[in-house]
Amino acid sequence: MKKKIPLSKFDMAKLPVRTRWYLRPLTWLLSFPEVWARRLTINHQGVALLKPPYLLLCTHMSFVDFKVTTAAIFPHPANYVVAIDGFIGREWLLRNAGGILKRKFTHDLTMIKHIKRVTDQGGIVALYPEARYSLIGTTAVLPDSLGKIVRLLGVPVVTLRMHGDYLISPCWNLAKRNVPLTADLTQIISASEAKSLALDEMNERIRKSFDYDEYRWQQEQRIRIDYANNAQGLHKVLYQCPSCKMEQTMDSAGNSLWCTHCGKQWTLSPYGELAAVAGETEFSHPPDWYEFQRREVRRQIELGQYEISDEVDIDILPNARGYVNLGRGKLTHNLSGFTLEANFEDGPLNLQKSPASMYSCHIEYNYDRRGDCIDLSTLSDTYYIYPLNQRNCVTKIALATEELFAYLVPGIKKEAKP
Ligand SMILES: [Zn+2]
Repeated sequence: MKKKIPLSKFDMAKLPVRTRWYLRPLTWLLSFPEVWARRLTINHQGVALLKPPYLLLCTHMSFVDFKVTTAAIFPHPANYVVAIDGFIGREWLLRNAGGILKRKFTHDLTMIKHIKRVTDQGGIVALYPEARYSLIGTTAVLPDSLGKIVRLLGVPVVTLRMHGDYLISPCWNLAKRNVPLTADLTQIISASEAKSLALDEMNERIRKSFDYDEYRWQQEQRIRIDYANNAQGLHKVLYQCPSCKMEQTMDSAGNSLWCTHCGKQWTLSPYGELAAVAGETEFSHPPDWYEFQRREVRRQIELGQYEISDEVDIDILPNARGYVNLGRGKLTHNLSGFTLEANFEDGPLNLQKSPASMYSCHIEYNYDRRGDCIDLSTLSDTYYIYPLNQRNCVTKIALATEELFAYLVPGIKKEAKP
């Protein structure tokens, strides 16, 4: 196997610029038609007199989040922190629109310096601290390092909690549903509080403001989704059968979800409730099923039995020109964390990521139309890893990453260490 050496890499140290004036109308043109069509309503709380600079923390569920964010802060522009894969084929555009590059789930001090430069110059930084689309419409893990960033910046913190974005286009089935949008734009920390509040109190305010459950919201608002394939792909997230407890045996189509091992079947109602076709309904609320899987993974970790290992195909993304295939290797995830090994012609690859180094993990479903993928980053490289034999295992790997961190690193709580 030949490892291809990339000629140039993303310049992570390049300083961010304020959104160029001539690109501002473009950001509005790309955003407003959809948010108007979806009847976006924004609930403003404590932001009537607020002017930049501030730190805008936004929930993250689908691509429409960026459009809602643009509308929510209109007419002000923001510098967005964007993962490197967002820059493929459009680095010039995103750099000049104010984008700040980030490798997911790394402890990136260069990015922190870029953010501070923007707020010191009077700008807004928009950050999506969940760092990936919500898998089941509930809040993802938030790192405790957010409080430290707020302290460093010393500017007000505003949160943008969006509703509808997940239900429109969940990451396991991107087809668009007809769902209205609402968002809560709330100032939760003032500039003086950013300098004086205890870090725990700041993190607590952020977590409280980020609390969401899109299926609960759908039921409370009585939002009916009549899309015929609304459950198609749901087995990617709900991978373990709650009846026979087998994993990787779930499948889905139309509005149905079933286990290919024991044959049990569930349907998803137009209001987002699951019901067993026959027998007991273990979980009518999809996020409850997801949390059941988390407990199962946690139990395997506590028994010392958790391990997933597979032959994988490995890509890297050195620059915005696109992915480069490195070849095949082996990925192991267990109580020691991640180990990615390969033997290429020009040398071995041996990447270790300890449980303490990652409080969560980024995964993708059917990524690049090739298959499910896990991405692991160092500060200089990002590997996109496609399991070749294990079916439907990436959600479990993501849950296990979070539970390994919580179980093995209790003293550090949710704080990621490099
Ligand atoms: Zn089953």
